[in-house]
Amino acid sequence: MVDLCLTGRQQEVQRAAREFAERELAPHARDNDRAQRAPVGLIRRMGEAGWLAPALPEAYGGRGLDMISYALVTEEIGRVDSSLRTALSITCSLVSLTVLAWGTREQQRRWLPELASGRAVGCFGLTEPQSGSVAAGCVGIMQASLEAATAYAGRRQAFDRPIAAFQLVQELLADIAVETEAARLLVWKAGDLKDRGEPSTAATSMAKLYASEGAVRAANAAIQVHGGYGYFDEYPVERYLRDARVATLYEGTTQIQKLIIGRHLTGLDAISP
Ligand SMILES: Cc1cc2nc3c(=O)[nH]c(=O)nc-3n(C[C@H](O)[C@H](O)[C@H](O)COP(=O)(O)OP(=O)(O)OC[C@H]3O[C@@H](n4cnc5c(N)ncnc54)[C@H](O)[C@@H]3O)c2cc1C
Repeated sequence: MVDLCLTGRQQEVQRAAREFAERELAPHARDNDRAQRAPVGLIRRMGEAGWLAPALPEAYGGRGLDMISYALVTEEIGRVDSSLRTALSITCSLVSLTVLAWGTREQQRRWLPELASGRAVGCFGLTEPQSGSVAAGCVGIMQASLEAATAYAGRRQAFDRPIAAFQLVQELLADIAVETEAARLLVWKAGDLKDRGEPSTAATSMAKLYASEGAVRAANAAIQVHGGYGYFDEYPVERYLRDARVATLYEGTTQIQKLIIGRHLTGLDAISP
């Protein structure tokens, strides 16, 4: 049986993360982007509220959530501010979960509560082979692009009707919606495999590849729906495109994701032949 429904607990986490993101983070996203400011105070705030360590055990200051719940949190943060989503992914996936898996007891006791609370900020010096949280963050960008484009298309009038009434504008919206849903399901599949302890590398690469490239297409389409306004930062969609574009580069470029999938399919390594 395939169950594509969220549990009650997962829905609760999704709702709480969305409320937090909209209340605490969204109001500052544009100003921080314009000022090119790293919002250390907001990162600390995310830590205090438990959103920097969704997948870390409670014993270390985390929420002890499953990977799908973690993906939901990442999507909600990514929906309002992809820069803070990056802080979450790096702190939780790349640093905290790495220390949890391979750190000594002493390193775990010393660093995990600091990272979970936002008193310490994680960074890394390698490329992550299983970049699931980036994929989930890209779904957040896609969802935000869909919401922004749909709202604008409903407001903007041309020829005495909202542009949402034009078929080609509806095509842009429909394409974003379908790709967002497809990317979300790929992310959930990768998270589910991880939760079950089954091999998840190829599924994670598929999710990362599809969601990051899909986020570029979604943000681009959202700009198209906004017309000339989409190019300026009065509306958030040009930021969505910048945020999405970098996700096809870091934590495994698009080409490298394809080669990981190709290696999975053929057993032949074309990355370093
Ligand atoms: C904003 C930003 C933040 C970053 N943050 C971090 C960070 O915190 N920590 C960190 O470690 N790194 C970070 N990176 C680095 C990022 O992971 C690398 O830029 C990325 O892995 C690509 O490596 P590169 O830039 O050296 O490109 P290159 O390796 O030179 O690749 C150039 C092109 O060649 C392709 N290519 C390379 N090798 C192969 C191959 N074997 N087969 C097929 N195609 C190939 C690539 O896909 C790409 O299209 C960040 C990058 C950016 C842009």
